Amino acid sequence: MTNLVIGVIGHVDHGKTALVRALTGEETDNLAEEKERGISIALGFARLQTGDLQTGDQTIDLIDMPGHERFIRTMIAGATGIGAVLLVLAANEGIKPQTIEHIDIAALLGLRRAVIAISKTDLVSPEQAQKTASEALHLLTSAGFAPLPPVFTSALREQGIDTLRSTLATLAADQAPRATGGIEFLPIDRAFSIAGHGPVVTGTLRGAPVNTGDTLELFPARRMVKIRAVQTHGLRVPTATPGQRTALNLRDIDIADLQRGMALAAPGTLTPSDWLTVSIRAVATAPNLKNGMQLRVLLGTDEFDARLRLLDRDILEPGQSGFAQLHCAAPVAFPAREHVILRLASPAQTVAGGRILEPVTRRQRRHSGPLLQRLETWHRLEPEALILAEIEAQSATGTTLTRLSQLSALAPSHIAALLKPHPILLTRTGLAIRVADLETLATRIPALLAPHTEGLSPSKLLATLPGLSPELLDEVISLLLARSLITRRGTQLALPRPEADQARVQDEASLAAQIAAQLRASGLSPPDPKTIITSLAAKRATDRLLREGTIIRAVDRAKDKEILFHHEAVEHAMRLLTPLLERPPGLLATDVGAALSISRKYSMPLLDHLDAIRFTRRIADRRIRGTASLTALLPPPR
Ligand code: GDP
Ligand code: MG
Repeated sequence: MTNLVIGVIGHVDHGKTALVRALTGEETDNLAEEKERGISIALGFARLQTGDLQTGDQTIDLIDMPGHERFIRTMIAGATGIGAVLLVLAANEGIKPQTIEHIDIAALLGLRRAVIAISKTDLVSPEQAQKTASEALHLLTSAGFAPLPPVFTSALREQGIDTLRSTLATLAADQAPRATGGIEFLPIDRAFSIAGHGPVVTGTLRGAPVNTGDTLELFPARRMVKIRAVQTHGLRVPTATPGQRTALNLRDIDIADLQRGMALAAPGTLTPSDWLTVSIRAVATAPNLKNGMQLRVLLGTDEFDARLRLLDRDILEPGQSGFAQLHCAAPVAFPAREHVILRLASPAQTVAGGRILEPVTRRQRRHSGPLLQRLETWHRLEPEALILAEIEAQSATGTTLTRLSQLSALAPSHIAALLKPHPILLTRTGLAIRVADLETLATRIPALLAPHTEGLSPSKLLATLPGLSPELLDEVISLLLARSLITRRGTQLALPRPEADQARVQDEASLAAQIAAQLRASGLSPPDPKTIITSLAAKRATDRLLREGTIIRAVDRAKDKEILFHHEAVEHAMRLLTPLLERPPGLLATDVGAALSISRKYSMPLLDHLDAIRFTRRIADRRIRGTASLTALLPPPR
């Protein structure tokens, strides 16, 4: 089923409302909300039935634009989501100021498809009607439109209405398939309450379908609301699709918290920003637009003040195009590619319009070549090509799925699917980088680690790679570890050096043997550990001997001093003490010292150790045999 929203534009009193009535039978000049007939019927909207034509199942929504200058804001807000225009031009009057302004605005909104209806032909000669038609064709073509041949009508005499209807149907049938995979976005143009149902908002949906039961995020409030019911064309439906006039009955919110200018979007997809980067074109009748100028911005159904920052020039002259930033009075949340209209606050006049290129950004440097080049790319390319170009542009650091979604207005899940066939790595953390770029980065890491023989921590390594995210470095590190191109030593990363590692292991083993021999020779009066552990290697060797049980660490708790004994010395002490300990009332510490011919400096830590292994048991200030069996403590006699 195809659907097209067509904006009916033209000067006041040129017969727009009369033509919409003749085409649809619907009355759009209805300013009284009491005549509300269904929740999706907004002021000025009428549905054109064309489903009976051979063009297939198709609907057209006509939006009858208010023609007067003071309704210009309404028109721009209502025009969002429109796919084509129906220009109504009275045969007897020809082109008028508002005819031009409406065409200007439609062109700025990116519209290119148009149907011309020459109205009130009953008032003029066929030659006059033909002349008006030629003028209209010329005007639209020079504004960049590709109009279908003009249709001559008279609403009064019901002439040309069928031709106009079938011309509109042709336009609707010949539509490029709507891009899929976007971000759900519904700028709210009306909010009202229906007794028994609660709050309802209407707007033209973009990006992706919405369904009953979906949760959306309300902006700028940033709160979640749930869809209770969906209506399109006055009918309750499970799903509304992009481009459709949509009414949503919401829950979890009060009507007082909803108003025109707000917007609903897929949760978490939009980020409010003070700055927007845009591509704009000044209309031919605009005054010079100067850098720093204060402007009124119309975006979605919202309207706010912003300061213009021209990025590629100091003055944007009438008819010129350029890149600019808008410094908004308050943060705003919109998807990329949304159309924007810029007006003077006073006198109220449309001066320029364009599209958002970068919806989340900060103040950018002016006249920056690289930036302007990127803006040119974003401006020129369609979303899919833009995504690939952006990943390529960020070859050194990669980019994120979030950023790609912001720039393309495509949903992250859709982008992930798009990237599948390409040689691009998308990490679990949402980082996107070309595999070739990841490989290039991977070759740089070993070179950076080479001078650091003791290794380098990942954070120090990251500091040598400006612009690189920790996530990407993690990715590169795991790749290099998996290929054994680097190794991890504790928390440090280093180059694997098999020979050096081997030599170190050998050094450590011989050092350990030396230490063990020294301790063994000194028996129960070993040297101070400080004189043994004199280097990192000696520390490693000692740790290894302790782990193996070759040496034993004992503590003099009173003095908080450590002492290292060779295990044979301790076993020797146990053999000597066993018979003595069995004699009541046990041994004093001084008795132990005397029996082993050692001072308190050695007997105290030794006893502490013997208590710990339950060889001895302490009762008051004496020791008796503990509960551990000798056979468990002593190696069998050789
Ligand atoms: P809008 O302001 O563009 O919506 O114009 P309307 O549809 O309200 O029409 C403006 C005036 O033109 C009304 O008085 C209509 O009756 C009149 N009008 C509209 N269509 C025709 C037509 O085909 N022939 C004649 N003679 N008058 C028309
Ligand atoms: Mg009207």
